[in-house]
Amino acid sequence: MNINRDFLRELQLQSKNPGTWTGMQSHDSGTYIPSHSPVDGALIGEVSVTTKEQYEEVIAKAQEAFKTWRMVPAPNRGEIVRQYGEALRKHKDALGRLVSYEMGKSLTEGWGEVQEMIDICDFAVGLSRQLYGLTMHSERSLHRMYEQWHPMGIVGIISAFNFPVAVWSWNSMIALVCGDVCVWKPSEKAPICGVACQQIFQDILKENNIPEGVVSLVNGDYKVGEFMSKDHRLPLISATGSTRMGKIVAAEVASRLGNTLLELGGNNAIIITPNADMKVVLTGAVFGAVGTAGQRCTSTRRLIVHNSQYEKVKEVLAKAYGQIRIGNPLDSDNHMGPLIDKAAVEMYMNAIEKAKAEGANFIVEGGVLEGSGYESGCYVKPCIAEANKDMAIVQTETFAPILYIMKYDTLEEAIAIQNNVPQGLSSAIMTDSLKESEKFLSAAGSDCGIANVNIGTSGAEIGGAFGGEKETGGGRESGSDSWKAYMRRQTTTINYSDVVPLAQGIKFDL
Ligand code: NAD
Repeated sequence: MNINRDFLRELQLQSKNPGTWTGMQSHDSGTYIPSHSPVDGALIGEVSVTTKEQYEEVIAKAQEAFKTWRMVPAPNRGEIVRQYGEALRKHKDALGRLVSYEMGKSLTEGWGEVQEMIDICDFAVGLSRQLYGLTMHSERSLHRMYEQWHPMGIVGIISAFNFPVAVWSWNSMIALVCGDVCVWKPSEKAPICGVACQQIFQDILKENNIPEGVVSLVNGDYKVGEFMSKDHRLPLISATGSTRMGKIVAAEVASRLGNTLLELGGNNAIIITPNADMKVVLTGAVFGAVGTAGQRCTSTRRLIVHNSQYEKVKEVLAKAYGQIRIGNPLDSDNHMGPLIDKAAVEMYMNAIEKAKAEGANFIVEGGVLEGSGYESGCYVKPCIAEANKDMAIVQTETFAPILYIMKYDTLEEAIAIQNNVPQGLSSAIMTDSLKESEKFLSAAGSDCGIANVNIGTSGAEIGGAFGGEKETGGGRESGSDSWKAYMRRQTTTINYSDVVPLAQGIKFDL
């Protein structure tokens, strides 16, 4: 496989060892994380692991930078984010190619991820003039009461491999206009994407004479993540990844009474009713299950199909799966690329075995692809199994293209099946019936953070608050009023009378 690597040059990533970026300063700890592309197995580069001493330097710089940044007027902070959005537009092609090559998602999804970054920059620029607080009526005469929002300090961002650039930007662009400074630990499975984003941001900071510590990068595995979760100087940890990781980070941060914003695993379902439009079902379900090779937190893992539609849906899906082209994601003819690494392939194979042992009936078989174009060993077949809602494997998030399909009789039963998992991220109903859709969206309906009608579970617009309930962690980031998680609220009462009346009519005469 011959990949033109000009995109690495454009992103100033041509050196084999880009070092650990802490601002523009490159630290070399002597220990490296190699990044191998799942596309062809080639070594893209190596990133130096951040030591504890280097981490301390990064935090000291971030603390200093915060003193300056918090006093920059919010719209001026927005201007820096605007410039970053412009730089991303310039590098969209190159960065999208890097995302695709390092993570393995299709090129259009790689570009889409960069587009999400651009969109969140635009959103944050507008937000920088709208960080509103409320004004209340005081019960005391000649008093004014209002609330204002201040930045928290250093926001620690720990991110997963599957959205190696977008998740950081959802957090950091909002945190930056709020006046926070950010320290990011990207996934050790896609660290070069982190270096590229950091590199582009540092150029903007330098051009504007802003301290480099406003945006920092640290690299490494969970041990570097632990430096952050244990560090009381980081008032907020935003962690995206598995529920397993979220439980550990949540307990650690809670033990020092810090704040967390958790975006964890999903187990997302689509309900297909007798009133569904089959064309909509097909696109929503197939993209949801197969897109990003089933490695989205919002990937469709379960289809809950009405008895009357079950055989038809099975037939249509099996036919569609037969047409999916699997291969190099940088080739736009292919629908599905590889899994992130061989460990993910092993987890996929184990899940198939467990499903079979529990009695699942595979109507489209899975398996690992071999031969020309598949030398990295990370390409697998998307598969579909008839399953039972209570099977242990159906209750688990397997980060791979395995779709479980099951039957229902009444809508109440379908909603109960949909809610009958520990996770609560994304959900959808396919129906043209207003009554069915409203029941699904009611308080007795879906218990997820995201509930869609005639759209699959996968993908979200940046304008809404993104996140999920139960074991998905309860965090909300990106649009709507998610910015409030990145600021501290201060209630202020001003007395402009000549006396000091106490609240609740309390008398304290001297
Ligand atoms: P992961 O949990 O293995 O790793 C995620 C990040 O956490 C990595 O940077 C890792 O180094 C770090 N980490 C792991 N253990 C840690 C610890 N004890 N302390 C501090 N940091 C630690 O997840 P992954 O395999 O990279 O990503 C896949 C998972 O992420 C899936 O479960 C997926 O659903 C989830 N995800 C959720 C969302 C969401 O918004 N809800 C988005 C993307 C991915």
